[in-house]
Amino acid sequence: MQYTMIFPGQHQLPPLPYAYNALEPVISARTLRIHHDKHHKSYVDGLNKAELSLVDARRRNDFQYIKYWEKELAFNGSGHILHSIFWTVMAPSGTGGQPGPHTTAQINNYFGSFDAFKEQFKNATEKVEASGWGILTWQPSWRRMEILQAEKHQNLTQWSGIPILVCDVWEHAYYLDYQNERRKFIDAWWNIINWYEVERRLVLGMNGQVHLV
Ligand code: FE
Repeated sequence: MQYTMIFPGQHQLPPLPYAYNALEPVISARTLRIHHDKHHKSYVDGLNKAELSLVDARRRNDFQYIKYWEKELAFNGSGHILHSIFWTVMAPSGTGGQPGPHTTAQINNYFGSFDAFKEQFKNATEKVEASGWGILTWQPSWRRMEILQAEKHQNLTQWSGIPILVCDVWEHAYYLDYQNERRKFIDAWWNIINWYEVERRLVLGMNGQVHLV
């Protein structure tokens, strides 16, 4: 867990908390290797490059490319954070436990029942337009959860919302294994959720301790 400030350009690709084949057959080793080693790494590299470019811009007081670097900062920063969460909210089938007491209470409080939450999460995730994410957040402003879609992951956010459970439905997350059948991926993915990590993230968020990565 990261408590200290990360200096510009110092972000690192976090290792997967399990082997490449640990999530099979839901996610193949080939998909996971490309997704983590190539896609996530490119977000980390892009974020570091954007931060260092802005350090340079500040030093030279030259902001002619500010729009470009701010977009790179948002796109790669969100990609790095969401992928870092995505790896930890999954676990090998049968080892992720059941929704914890806080998770269950907050879900029932706001969504009415676990099944209602599950159906909204799956439908929201399935129907993300083009590439994106399904995201369960803790909204500290209103002391409750919410389910959100992120079409481009730097957009459509509620800025203070804290991601609790995220599902990557960019094509690179499932296309080798499921082709265009996104719902089949989501249904299978549901069985590898790490509910211990979901509960930990919720409790940290509820206590105002926001550690995203
Ligand atoms: Fe991804």
